[in-house]
Amino acid sequence: MKFDIACIPGDGIGPEIINEAISVLNKIGEIFNHDFNFKEVLAGGIAIDKRGEALPQETLDVCKNSDAVLLGAVGGPKWDDLPGDKRPETGLLALRQELGLFANIRPVIVYKSLIEASPLRRDIVEEGIDICVVRELIGGIYFGERGRRKEGKMGEEAYDTEAYSVGEVERVARIAFEIAKKRKKKVTSVDKANVLESSRLWRSVMIKVAKDYPEVELEHMYVDNASMQLIRRPANFDVIVTTNMFGDILSDEGSMITGSIGMLPSASLAEGNYGMYEPIHGSAPDIANQNKSNPLATILSAGMMLRYSFKLEEEAKAIEKAVENVLDMNYRTEDIMSPGAKLVGTKEMGQLIITEIDKIAK
Ligand code: NAD
Repeated sequence: MKFDIACIPGDGIGPEIINEAISVLNKIGEIFNHDFNFKEVLAGGIAIDKRGEALPQETLDVCKNSDAVLLGAVGGPKWDDLPGDKRPETGLLALRQELGLFANIRPVIVYKSLIEASPLRRDIVEEGIDICVVRELIGGIYFGERGRRKEGKMGEEAYDTEAYSVGEVERVARIAFEIAKKRKKKVTSVDKANVLESSRLWRSVMIKVAKDYPEVELEHMYVDNASMQLIRRPANFDVIVTTNMFGDILSDEGSMITGSIGMLPSASLAEGNYGMYEPIHGSAPDIANQNKSNPLATILSAGMMLRYSFKLEEEAKAIEKAVENVLDMNYRTEDIMSPGAKLVGTKEMGQLIITEIDKIAK
């Protein structure tokens, strides 16, 4: 099969980690007989330098005409003094909006060989942590009506509005249930239905959609409780689905549980099979161009692209298994280094994954 992939290396470590992900995808293409056609485009700081804007029209056009987008990271100190609306990160927000990426998916996995990296007690982590957080991405309070009024109850007042329509909740609910169907078949919908009207609508739509997925268990949890349970007993969760703001907070809490930011991939999905795939970390300018960055989050993001946009489950699993095996063989980049492990650089880690994929496929 043939797929067009728009590649946005971006800034800092972006180009290094994207290179490794491309090499891994090329290996997958070679073994499984797919043709991945990469088209590199500019966004972020480098686009500001070369084109005068963080998201050039050409980038948007190439992304829209591709089957999926693979992104490194954008931003860095060089552009920190620009006004808010001119910064590299605004290009990313505009891209998400323009591409209609309404569901953000973040797996929270603690690999057996990285248990020590988690700040949680060993007995809690050993129960196994494999959670998939599905966050609504382009609705809710971050996009609702906002403003200021002079005559508030106690002086000037500011407000932001949380609003969700049935359709917006339904499409993200379906993503969560579809994912759960292929996992442990449990969806935890997180809301604040004891207080918020928008949460009561959210909950009623979840209950309605759940009827189409009788094999999946649906539970509801208030967001305050969810933030506690994530730490107390993360093994209880399978798929978590929640609103934009609650998801923003809970997915970062989830990342911390794993203790290794260089390991965490993400997918942002639009209607159809279209999606953008990127590591959750930033451009790590402090270690750029030193062959020190961990490419695994980006390589795993490429794996998610195979699963969600291209429906290539076996190929996605080959990447995930290769990552697990290489960690089990005790190879580590600096960010996840532990006593007695073998330290490798960005390129070596990429090569190890490629070698392992070769072995798995044989
Ligand atoms: P960051 O994630 O870039 O770095 C935080 C720390 O984690 C740093 O010490 C860094 O060296 C380390 N780190 C991150 N990724 C790593 C990897 N793959 N391997 C090894 N170590 C890694 O966050 P920050 O320092 O707050 O932000 C740096 C820049 O990135 C800023 O300009 C910020 O705006 C931008 N940013 C971009 C995105 C994005 O493109 N999606 C996300 C977050 C931050």
